[in-house]
Amino acid sequence: MSSNSKIRVIPHRGMRQIGGVCTEIATDEARIMFDFGSPLEGEGDQNPLDIEGVTKGAVDCDAVFLTHYHGDHVGEIPNIKAGIPVYMQKTARRILQAQQEHKQCLGQEVWAPGVKELEYSVPVIIKDLTITPIESDHSAIDSLMFLVEGHGKRILLTGDYRMHGFHNERMEKTFREIGHIDLMITEGTNLTKDYKGAYKSEKDVEAKFKEIKDKYKYVFLFTSSSNIDRIAAFSRQVPSGQYVITDNYQKRLQEIADEERENKYKSHKVLCYGDNLDAKMNAWGFGMVIRSGDKFYQIVKEYFEKYPDDTILIYSMWSGYKSIPEVKKILDIAPRQETVHVSGHITKEDLKYVIETVSPEKLLVHHMQTWYEKETKIDLFTAVEQLELYDGGTVEISF
Ligand SMILES: [Zn+2]
Ligand SMILES: [Zn+2]
Repeated sequence: MSSNSKIRVIPHRGMRQIGGVCTEIATDEARIMFDFGSPLEGEGDQNPLDIEGVTKGAVDCDAVFLTHYHGDHVGEIPNIKAGIPVYMQKTARRILQAQQEHKQCLGQEVWAPGVKELEYSVPVIIKDLTITPIESDHSAIDSLMFLVEGHGKRILLTGDYRMHGFHNERMEKTFREIGHIDLMITEGTNLTKDYKGAYKSEKDVEAKFKEIKDKYKYVFLFTSSSNIDRIAAFSRQVPSGQYVITDNYQKRLQEIADEERENKYKSHKVLCYGDNLDAKMNAWGFGMVIRSGDKFYQIVKEYFEKYPDDTILIYSMWSGYKSIPEVKKILDIAPRQETVHVSGHITKEDLKYVIETVSPEKLLVHHMQTWYEKETKIDLFTAVEQLELYDGGTVEISF
């Protein structure tokens, strides 16, 4: 091994935008991509990733590892060349497949069946690099961090994560016990936002669900279908004797998730809405998980008209989505509503804590809105060397 050997880290996209993340980690032998996402609508560089050996030319890439199933991390996978293996956590892969099959009618490509499944903490060795998937916590279930090791060097790639989900204790333990890290690549979604929400954690959100369900007979939860932990928490707070109702698609997602879940995080029995349930729904009350669209719109409208005093809608997504026309359409017919939500991303305070705990040799923050001011940087991460890099730049770690 020559003395000038290096591990190279190249963020292809995502240094100064949230969506469309893709990070390369390579040696002279191995070349691996982490995430291959689509940009968020209207945010940052909108051009598809265009990488020699990955999306064009002769194949020169050993694998693509995906942290989780959100589109800003997986959306451009159909553009990679055939023959490059893609890896993902196994339950997350099954969720992604169900999503793709559901959206097939909208022209979504179903590529998830070809993805190789990862087990937590079981390393994959690719030439001179070892990639270990670590269980994380995010608003997409079964999301991963990756520890990449080779030639005595260790890189931690966090993916999207937070310290206020249901698995905060496990997250703390992971960071405390991770050992020496030469380079930490972390998301910084909330670095440019001051979090002002009323709720601090998923547990607070679940407690609020209970409080609301105790008070109201007919409760609608308006949330993202992929926020499966949140939906499971809501279902757990619907008292026995009342139905948890949604449509076939959401029911299927909850069932896939529950196959490998600890009992305390499983959903309550979820039923698919049908006319045959109407009489019992009326008589006993319910908790219903809804999305935008006509089917749910009609049911929400009907209950608010028939039982205005006993009906409430819980809005449980980022407040920015409230202006989307299909979302607004449902909110407009719900005279009683309450917003109950926490971010899927780590807060600024927690990020500072995590960086101090891991204490990496070098730090790279990506997946954030804009490059923040130097003063903020000093305030947040005093003891760690933070790299300033643009998309396409390279960090070299010598070994
Ligand atoms: Zn995400
Ligand atoms: Zn993301």
